[in-house]
Amino acid sequence: MTIRIKTKSVCPICKKQIPAELFEKDGRVYMKKICPTHGEFIERISDLENFKRNLKYLQLLYKYIPTIDVPQCPFKCEQCNLHRSPTVLGIIDVTNRCNLRCSYCFANAAVSGRLYEPDIDTIKKQIDYLVNQNPPAPAVMFSGGEPTMRGDFLEIVRYAVHEKGLYTLVATNGYKIASSLEYAKKLAEAGPVVLYLSFDGLTDETNREKKNHLIIDKILENARKTGLSIVLVPTIIKGVNENQIWPIIKFAFENMDVVRGVNFQPVSFCGRMSKEKREKQRFTISDLKHTLSQQSDGVIKPQHWFPVPSVLPLIELYEEITGNRAVTFSTHPLCGEATYLIKDDKGNPVPLTAFIDIDKFIELIEKYNKEIKKDNSFKEMKLLALTKDLLQQATKIHDLPLNFRYKFAKLLKNIIFNPGNLKALSDFHFETLFIGTMHFQDLYNLDVERLKYCVIHYITPDLKRIPFCAYNGDLGYREKIEKHHSEPFYDK
Ligand code: SF4
Ligand code: SF4
Repeated sequence: MTIRIKTKSVCPICKKQIPAELFEKDGRVYMKKICPTHGEFIERISDLENFKRNLKYLQLLYKYIPTIDVPQCPFKCEQCNLHRSPTVLGIIDVTNRCNLRCSYCFANAAVSGRLYEPDIDTIKKQIDYLVNQNPPAPAVMFSGGEPTMRGDFLEIVRYAVHEKGLYTLVATNGYKIASSLEYAKKLAEAGPVVLYLSFDGLTDETNREKKNHLIIDKILENARKTGLSIVLVPTIIKGVNENQIWPIIKFAFENMDVVRGVNFQPVSFCGRMSKEKREKQRFTISDLKHTLSQQSDGVIKPQHWFPVPSVLPLIELYEEITGNRAVTFSTHPLCGEATYLIKDDKGNPVPLTAFIDIDKFIELIEKYNKEIKKDNSFKEMKLLALTKDLLQQATKIHDLPLNFRYKFAKLLKNIIFNPGNLKALSDFHFETLFIGTMHFQDLYNLDVERLKYCVIHYITPDLKRIPFCAYNGDLGYREKIEKHHSEPFYDK
C-alpha cells in the first residue's frame, strides 16, 4: 500500500486552513501543503514503518470514535461541539511569572511586560469546569510560567486534589523544590502531586538554559523526604540533546523510587522558521524510537512502544463492567506512544512490552467485550477466563523476570476485575517506570485529523476548552486569551 492520505493543515505564514497530503518517499512519510499565496511546504512526519504500524491503531481509534469533517477546524475551538475526544488532562496556566529567564520563552511576565495571573476564584471555576464535564476529566496540570511563584498556589492544589479529587500535576523547573524543603513538604501535604519537571539533559551543553541538572540531586532528595513524585520531561531537539535520551532514562531508572516516568517531547517549532533550520532540528517520534534503540543497544526497540489508543478496548471493558462512562484515551496514534520499564532479575531495565503481544492483548479484550455485551451473565467467570487468556496467549509469562511474574499476574487480575480502581493502577506505576512521548504539533506539521482527537485541553479563564496544540500552536488562541486576561507588569 502506498501512503497518500488527504488531510487539512494551515499555512505557516498566513495561517489560513489549506488542504494537505501525507505521502511516502524513500522510506519516510512527509506532509505536503500548498498555500495559494505563500507556496509549498514539505515537512517530515515519520519513518514509513512506524507510520504504517500507526495506521493500524488509527483504524482501532476510528472503530471506537469515527472521524467526522469539522469544516473550520482549528479556528472554532471556542465554540466547537464537534471535537472527538473528551478531556483527559486539563491544563490551567496559573501565572506567567517565572524564576528563570530562558531565552526561548517569550511568555514570561518580565519579557512580555504583561502579567497573566487569574485570581483564585477564577482558577477554582476553571477546576470546577473540568470536573463538571461528562465524563469528568480525571487530571489537571497547573502550568505557567512557574506555578510555584504564586503565593496562593498551595490553596489551589488543595482545592483540586482534596475538594475535586483530581490527579494533579505541577509543571515546574524544580528550583523552588530544590531551594526549600519546607515548601516541598507543604506542596506534598497540599497534594499528592506529581512534579512534571522539564529536564533537557544531564550535561551543561544539553541543558543550557534551565541548568536544573545542577540541582537535580537536591530536587530528588527533597521529593524523597516529602513524598513528591516526579516525571522528567525532556524536549528533544536534533543536534542539541538527542544524545541524552538513554542517559535520562537510565538516570530515571536509578531513581525509580521518586521518578515515576520520563515523557519525551520532540521539539515543536514556534513562529516562522527556515526550511534549513527545521530540517536540522526536526525530531520525530520515529527518530526518538530509533535513536533510543541504538543508544540502549536494543534494550528498548521501536516495537516495544505502543500508541495511546491501544488502551481503548480496556476502557470499553471498564464501561461494560461498571456501567460508568469513562474518559477515553483517544489521542491520534501519531501524537503519542509509550512503554513501561521493569527490573529484570539482575536489576537492569527491560521493557514490559517485550513480554506482551499487544495486538493479541487487544484482540482478546475485544473478543470478551463482545461476549459480555451480548450476554451480561456470568461476568465474573468471563473476566477470569479473559485474565487467563491474556496471561497464556498474550504474555510470555515464563520469560518475565522472576521477581515480576507473580506481581504482573496479580496486577493484571486487579486491573481486569476492577479497571476503575486507581489503587491497582497506582500499584502498577510504583512497580514500573513509564516512558512516554508526545509530539506536539506546530504550524509546519499541523494535521487537523490529529488535533480533532486531542485529549489535552487548556481551560481558559472564561471557561473555554481549547486543545493543547491549537492553544500553543501560534494560531492566536493563547495571545488572545492572555491579552484579554492580563495587565501591565513592572519587574522589580
Ligand atoms: S480542534 Fe477540536 S475543538 Fe478545535 S475546531 Fe477542531 S474539532 Fe473543534
Ligand atoms: S497535545 Fe497535540 S500532540 Fe498531544 S494529543 Fe493533543 S494534538 Fe496530539
